Amino acid sequence: MSSPLNQIAGAVDGYTPDSLRVEVARDAIARCITPITDTEAVPLRQALGRVLATDIVSPINVPAHDNSAMDGYALRGSDLLAGEQTLRIVGRAFAGHPYRQEVRPGECVRIMTGAVIPRGCDSVLPHELATGASAQSVTIPANLIRPGANRRLAGEDVPAGAVALPRGRLLTPSDLGLIASLGIGELSVMRRLRVAFFSTGDELRSIGQPLDEGCVYDSNRYTLQAMLGRAGCEGIDLGVVRDDPASLETTLRAACRQADVIITTGGVSAGDADYTADMMARLGDVLFWKIAMRPGRPMAFGRLGCDGHEALFFGLPGNPVAVMATFYFFARDAIYRRMGTTPPVLPVVRAISTDTIRKRPGRTEYQRGVLDYDANGVASVRLTGAQGSGILSSMSEANGMVVLDHDAGDIAAGQPVGVIPFNGLI
Ligand code: AMP
Ligand code: MG
Repeated sequence: MSSPLNQIAGAVDGYTPDSLRVEVARDAIARCITPITDTEAVPLRQALGRVLATDIVSPINVPAHDNSAMDGYALRGSDLLAGEQTLRIVGRAFAGHPYRQEVRPGECVRIMTGAVIPRGCDSVLPHELATGASAQSVTIPANLIRPGANRRLAGEDVPAGAVALPRGRLLTPSDLGLIASLGIGELSVMRRLRVAFFSTGDELRSIGQPLDEGCVYDSNRYTLQAMLGRAGCEGIDLGVVRDDPASLETTLRAACRQADVIITTGGVSAGDADYTADMMARLGDVLFWKIAMRPGRPMAFGRLGCDGHEALFFGLPGNPVAVMATFYFFARDAIYRRMGTTPPVLPVVRAISTDTIRKRPGRTEYQRGVLDYDANGVASVRLTGAQGSGILSSMSEANGMVVLDHDAGDIAAGQPVGVIPFNGLI
């Protein structure tokens, strides 16, 4: 039977769930996401990293008046046409203190940067180009400036009535400044995304518990909480869940009632997936994928519903590095889309590999690397050593992922490779 998600994903070119190319999986995920619709009002100062719920339309011209781009003399451009001129200084204009009279032919006004251009004037001669300046007059050499020079036009930054920032914009520091320049102090934004997460595994212990034989401390909830925080989400930690379908179902239902996105780690590898698949089919629509990537081969993706609430679901692998890689390359995009914005582009830096890298064609590999620049600004990258997907210390040592494309084979030392810097998220 073909579920709705199966139909959407199945329509993507090259969709083969048992060996899915990374790009195809990303495309399939993007098509399955609906943004949340709840909005809230926030003060401008608290809006960094939030998503605009409405267009910001400018109520004013920015700047509000024609003003000077330089310290110098405001004058009538038509006075420049007759060659060298000596103009009478009739007043001063400072930022915030305009000269209010009309300036007539043969006159000029001493003006400072940002001051309103006086009536009658349309050009500014920079201070350092004037000759023979006294308190009463100034001489303007011929052909130094053109009429209209050094004048900032009203509305040249943002005209009144224009959309300064569109709905769906993920707000940056410069955006906050831009909005402030319009005199707007409160914004309508999408509410914060709520992301519930838990770890699965009988071997997992939480901090504070004794580490029984064969057990490991659960680290995934800590990396996830931190990555979610950086993406501006509200994380809801639902703890460790035993490998048992009944506990899993109870926790997933609880997660569904309170979250927009659910992320679990562990329990999606071949054997585990079998017993979770039936249970998840009862809760919603979940696809089990084997992604042609390393680290992070098995992954479940879907939608779960409970009591009228619907959540997007990511079942990530258990290995700590695989969790971070699959979060970064799949969940991150989905989270931004569900927040109502376009995921910020992940920059790729071309760098010379200082190592020989073994790579099998037929899967995308992400290896942990340290990107650096030499004195000439040439980028190089070295691998962090052991690349096992359980070796979390290599993530801490790295500052980016070396991306080895699906079809690539071994890379010789000295060859260029692409590196995606962690970019503040990981
Ligand atoms: P799984 O995907 O459940 O088969 O787990 C794969 C590996 O990752 C096993 O070695 C687990 O012990 C380890 N692992 C799974 N979940 C976690 C976790 N939350 N923290 C640390 N290691 C984990
Ligand atoms: Mg497990």
